[in-house]
Amino acid sequence: MYDVVIVGGGPAGIFCALSLIENNQNLSIIILEKGYDITDRRCPAKKLNKLCVRCNVCNIYSGWGGAGAFSDGKITLDPEIGGWLSQVISIEKTRQYIKKADEVFLKYGAPRKVYGDDPDIFEKWRRRASLAGMKLQKNPIRHMGSDLSFNILSHMKNELKKNVEIKVMTEVESFIVENNIVKGVKTRDGESFLSKVVVTAPGRSGASWLRREFTRLNIPMKRNPIDLGVRVEIPAEVMEEITRDLYEPKLKYVSKRFDDNVRTFCVNPRGEVLTEFFENIVTVNGHSYNSHKTDNTNFAILVSTDFTEPFKEPIEYGLSIAKLANLISNGVVVQRLGDLIQGRRSTHERISRSLVSPTLPDATPGDLSFILPYRILSNIVEMLKAMDKLVPGIFSKQDTLLYGVEAKFYSSRVELNSNCETTVKNLFAIGDGAGITRGLSQAAASGLYVGQVVSERLRT
Ligand SMILES: Cc1cc2nc3c(=O)[nH]c(=O)nc-3n(C[C@H](O)[C@H](O)[C@H](O)COP(=O)(O)OP(=O)(O)OC[C@H]3O[C@@H](n4cnc5c(N)ncnc54)[C@H](O)[C@@H]3O)c2cc1C
Repeated sequence: MYDVVIVGGGPAGIFCALSLIENNQNLSIIILEKGYDITDRRCPAKKLNKLCVRCNVCNIYSGWGGAGAFSDGKITLDPEIGGWLSQVISIEKTRQYIKKADEVFLKYGAPRKVYGDDPDIFEKWRRRASLAGMKLQKNPIRHMGSDLSFNILSHMKNELKKNVEIKVMTEVESFIVENNIVKGVKTRDGESFLSKVVVTAPGRSGASWLRREFTRLNIPMKRNPIDLGVRVEIPAEVMEEITRDLYEPKLKYVSKRFDDNVRTFCVNPRGEVLTEFFENIVTVNGHSYNSHKTDNTNFAILVSTDFTEPFKEPIEYGLSIAKLANLISNGVVVQRLGDLIQGRRSTHERISRSLVSPTLPDATPGDLSFILPYRILSNIVEMLKAMDKLVPGIFSKQDTLLYGVEAKFYSSRVELNSNCETTVKNLFAIGDGAGITRGLSQAAASGLYVGQVVSERLRT
C-alpha cells in the first residue's frame, strides 16, 4: 500500500513527486511510467534514415521526462500562456506555482536569462506588430533547449530516486475505484498498486486512454479546440532581430477571409524540424538545442477550430487530416511557399534552389493543398503576408518552406475542482493529459500544486 501512485513520468508527474517529497519525506510514493528510462530513449528513425518507424511506444513522447525530455525546453512564465490551469486553480495560484516551477528548473540548471521581459523592447515590437495587423502577446520565457531539458529531467530522476520508487515500462491500464473512492491502479500486466491517492499525469500520449477510463468511471470531460497548420522554416537571419529580442514572438492574427484565429507557435531560432508519432499518425513539430545551432529558424502557424454541436470529435478530425499527409507522402510533406501559391507541387529539384536546406531532409516534396482544407491554407497564407510586414523576408516564395501537417491534439478537459481532484475522491488529474495544460511550465506548476494539496490531505 502506497500513499501516492503517480501515473506518468513527465514534467507534471515529476514535479508532483518533487513537491510531495519536499512537503513530507516519509510518504511512500511510486511513479509508474509506460515508456523507457530517459537514458534508453532513442528515436530509431534517425538511425534508419526514416521519418518515423512507428514504435509501439513513441520515444519522443514517452519515457522518463515525458514529452518534456525532447521538448525545446521553453519555460513560459506568463500564467495566461501554455494552458488553462488558471481556470481551475485561479490566476493568482497559477502565477505563484509557475514561479515555483521556474525556481525548481533554475535549481536544476536552467539558464538564468529570460527573454521578452523588457517592457521597452516588448513595446517596440508590439507597436510594429499592431501596424502589421497582428497582436503580440507578452511572453517572457527561459530557454533550456532540448539538450539541457534532457539533462535537467535526468538530474531530477537521480534526486527523486532517493525517496521515490520509479517503475518504467509499466503501463497503467485502469484505476481501481470502490464506492467512488480511488484505491489504486492496475497495470497492463495485471499487477495492482494500491494507494490512498492516485495522481494521473499521462500527457498527450495517454490522453485517449484517460478519456476511455474516465468515461468508464463517469468522470465528466469536455472538448478542447483543435489546432491545425504547418511548420514554417526560413533562413535564421530573417527573424534574427525579433528572436534575439523576444526569442519566441507569440503573434495572433484574425484572418480577413474567414475571421478565424491564427497564431504563431513554438518558434525555434536556429532549430530543427522533427516528426512526432501520435495514434499511428506522423505529424511535424520543431525544437532547438542550447549547444548546437542550425542555419534555419522554424515556427508553426496554427489555426484554431472549436467545433460546435453536433460534432464532438475534434481529435478525429485532426487525425483524418494528418492521415492524408501520411497517405500521399512518407509522413510529412514539404512545399515551397511559391509552389503552393502557384498551385504546383514542390520537387527535390525546386527545393534545392531554396536558400533553406531543410532540417527534415526526408520530408516528401509535395503539395499541401491536397491535404489541408482551403480555409486553413488561406488563413496561413494571409498570416504569412501580415508577418512579412513585421519581418520582411518571411513571405519568400523561394526560401520559405512549409511542412505539414502540424497538429495540436489537446486532450479533452477533465472536470476538476479547484484542487485538481476529479469527481472520484482522491483521484487527481494534472498536466497535458487532463487537458488543463499544454506546456512545460503549467504542467510542472500543476504537479507542484497537487503535490502540496495531497501532502496536506495525507497529513489529516
Ligand atoms: C517536440 C516537442 C517540443 C516541445 N517544446 C516545448 C517547449 O519548448 N515549451 C513548452 O512549454 N512545451 C513544449 N512541449 C510540450 C511539453 O513537452 C508538454 O506540454 C509537457 O511535457 C507536458 O507534461 P506532462 O507531464 O503533462 O505530459 P508528458 O510530458 O506527455 O508526460 C506524460 C508521461 O505519461 C506517460 N504515460 C501515458 N500514459 C500512461 C499510462 N497509461 N501508464 C503509465 N504512463 C503513462 C507517458 O509515457 C509520458 O512519459 C513540446 C513537446 C514536444 C513533443
